[in-house]
Amino acid sequence: MQELASLKELLANPQHIVITTHHKPDGDAMGSSLGLYNYLIQKGHHVRVITPTDYPFFLHWLPNNPEVIIYTEKIEDSKKYINEADIIFCLDFNSLSRINEMGEVVRDAKAKKVMIDHHLEPEDFDDYRHWSINACATAQLAYDFIVNIMQEPELVNKDVATCLYTGIMTDSGSFRFPTTTPQVHQIVADLIARGAENAKIHQLVYDNFSESRLRFLGYCLLNKLEVFEEYNTALISVSNDELDKFGIETGDTEGLVNYALTINGIKLAALIIERADKVKLSLRSTGDFPANEICKKYFNGGGHRNAAGGFSEKSLQDVISEFKSILPDYKSLLIL
Ligand code: 5GP
Ligand code: MN
Repeated sequence: MQELASLKELLANPQHIVITTHHKPDGDAMGSSLGLYNYLIQKGHHVRVITPTDYPFFLHWLPNNPEVIIYTEKIEDSKKYINEADIIFCLDFNSLSRINEMGEVVRDAKAKKVMIDHHLEPEDFDDYRHWSINACATAQLAYDFIVNIMQEPELVNKDVATCLYTGIMTDSGSFRFPTTTPQVHQIVADLIARGAENAKIHQLVYDNFSESRLRFLGYCLLNKLEVFEEYNTALISVSNDELDKFGIETGDTEGLVNYALTINGIKLAALIIERADKVKLSLRSTGDFPANEICKKYFNGGGHRNAAGGFSEKSLQDVISEFKSILPDYKSLLIL
């Protein structure tokens, strides 16, 4: 692993750079990626942001979003950019499986790889690393990279500030999760001072949904929510047919799992969704309950202690049953 500060020399001259982030990028993935993009282009670099898949409509307003390339839509161009890159920034993930088939292309590329991330247990594929599980968002680490490591706070312009604000806002649950330290608030204050329009960003991200998404939420809460009081656990499960019926698109199910956690006393909330190719599981927990442990042990996934995810090749019903069967093993932690 090389010293992060030595990137300063490497970035002193124009380079071919690729920025990538995880499968189904969320607000932090896109906010940190486009934040870094909007910073690097000011330094004269040739930069491409390549995402492994599409991402939600409510992130498409981010500054310079039209520059983003979706790998599955432009495979040959993407491979060329990755193979020709001098530097590849890997943002908001630390395991190459999180970028699907792009993972092998990135692994084999000659470029220096820079990981900027805040998830547990990083894999060893990078040359430079800015990593901390204490960061509330990758966008916080991207801010630290630009301001403190590269020592270029003047390059945090309105576009950079807007993107980084979005990343921090979404990954910190609008500044409410325990990782939202005084330092995070100081960073956010600086981003607003540098042009991030906080009220507008909240509106664009949180009040920008379709009518059917809201009706789908109502349907799930009324008909699909199960509460297991004995285990302080709540579950919402959704079939592919139900997604189709409401015309649910990428990103429309984001945040759904959090509603289950708002019930008084609930320590563990699960959302199990039948997608076209596999069943996706999202877990949220409170306090010390290790949601990531369940995802890692049973559902090919991982994540943070209080927000984790995974998937299964089994049927929706089997995944629901498997999830329920795990609860007794965790009873002592769930009733604490
Ligand atoms: P979500 O439930 O919103 O999809 O994901 C919550 C968190 O869980 C993400 O920030 C990520 O850290 C983690 N996560 C979600 N899906 C996966 C997965 O398939 N593998 C791993 N390792 N982590 C995941
Ligand atoms: Mn993140």
